Amino acid sequence: MLIENESYKFDSWHWQLQNRIDSAEKVILWLKENNLFEQISPLILKRIKTWQKLAPSWQISFRFAVSPYYLRFVDWQNADCPILRQILPSPEEFNDKIDKSNLDDWDPLAEEKNMPVRGLTHRYPDRVLWYLSHSCALYCRFCMRKRKVSQAESAPSQKEWELILNYIRSHREIKEVILSGGDPLSLEDKHIDYILKKLREIDHLYSIRIHTRMLVTLPMRITASLAKILAKHYPITIVTHFNHPKELENNIEKNYVKQAVRLLRMSGVDVLNQTVLLRGVNDSAKIQEKLNLKLLTSGIRAYYLHRCDEIPGTEHFRVPLEKGIKILKALRGTNPGISLPRYMVDLPGGGGKVPLEVNYLTSNNIKGDSIENKSTSANHSKKKNIVYSLVNWEGKSFEIHERQS
Ligand code: SF4
Repeated sequence: MLIENESYKFDSWHWQLQNRIDSAEKVILWLKENNLFEQISPLILKRIKTWQKLAPSWQISFRFAVSPYYLRFVDWQNADCPILRQILPSPEEFNDKIDKSNLDDWDPLAEEKNMPVRGLTHRYPDRVLWYLSHSCALYCRFCMRKRKVSQAESAPSQKEWELILNYIRSHREIKEVILSGGDPLSLEDKHIDYILKKLREIDHLYSIRIHTRMLVTLPMRITASLAKILAKHYPITIVTHFNHPKELENNIEKNYVKQAVRLLRMSGVDVLNQTVLLRGVNDSAKIQEKLNLKLLTSGIRAYYLHRCDEIPGTEHFRVPLEKGIKILKALRGTNPGISLPRYMVDLPGGGGKVPLEVNYLTSNNIKGDSIENKSTSANHSKKKNIVYSLVNWEGKSFEIHERQS
């Protein structure tokens, strides 16, 4: 139970950011301070100690950090806790087969190649992605922007914002701006207000989206003053990123998520969710059913279920495409249509996103508008190599390679 002034601090998003737990030593200290150390599963403790011992040789440029708020969702007695799996560095992260020295591997969606101005990706003609910040309330081990996220100082400066705004102004084909990062809501309110104001002045923009995980990792970031700013620049869409139903549970004094979503929706903000399908976190129909129903009752609409992108150190998180499709198929019988996400694959090499639809597939022979063919071959380790050939929005073909046991 929090005492009164501790509760006041806990409710402050600045306090949460300043007090992030950012090393193995601090995790152990936090567990002791919260009387959880005695209950911790021996396997989890072993993992923390391995991380502590090996971290220097792992050369982690992608940092570890987690808000005190999010750490409270971890079940320390469960070695398979889906919350902990998303944040705790593991040896698997440093052992996968991707060539870590190849810079293209760190940017499989070619976001840096399609960057006319530093900090802005222009890949589809009608929309741009603006990386406002490289900081987050916590760092997800499967993050697809590990190449820069967690290095706060590498984010575009305020001077560079003007170059970005000029680029958007001079490209009338751009209809939508997606503010992303890192987490754009790690910026102060006055900066968010300034950027939204400048964007609203551009007459060819139809849509402004903010992609943030703060509703999951730091919902106290949605303050009354932020909601007022968002209302002023109506209409704004927020796309958030819940991966597991536990992240929506009311396991502490208040239901911060429901409160934050209510504030946003009362301010005219549309709130959507995208989930990443992650092995050992949410790769079952049951979990997806529960997650999407909980989102619905929290006032958040299901939007996308993403395949985990091919970033170094994430192979252990990736779920075979066919399993993803089976999960989506199962949801059709359990969830209302408005709580069904679309299953999306971001094509390697900057091909863009394609939706994979359940009814495009037959049981033995994969054919259709999105998936053209599948071939398999056995490799030495008796794992199957599966090659999917997918067609993107421009009609170009791209391949996805999967190794399956
Ligand atoms: S919150 Fe988003 S940007 Fe930040 S580490 Fe997680 S996935 Fe990456």
